[in-house]
Amino acid sequence: MAIRYKCRHCSTEIGVLPFDSDDSIRKLHQLNEKDAQEFIRHEQNGDTTVDSICEHCEDSLKKFPNYHALKNWLQ
Ligand SMILES: [Zn+2]
Repeated sequence: MAIRYKCRHCSTEIGVLPFDSDDSIRKLHQLNEKDAQEFIRHEQNGDTTVDSICEHCEDSLKKFPNYHALKNWLQ
């Protein structure tokens, strides 16, 4: 089972990690059950996707926080 990290803003795939369970992800990111449900998605093909943020978007987010807030709201 592969865990794919995808940018929630631009859908870029950040990386794939060979974790075997949601528990590993939760421990790594210190998520509680509720947060995990929000960030971890199970795809129909059996893969797991973790909503994350890529370096590019993180940079722009720091520079233009209002722009991103607006963009997310519109999506
Ligand atoms: Zn991005």
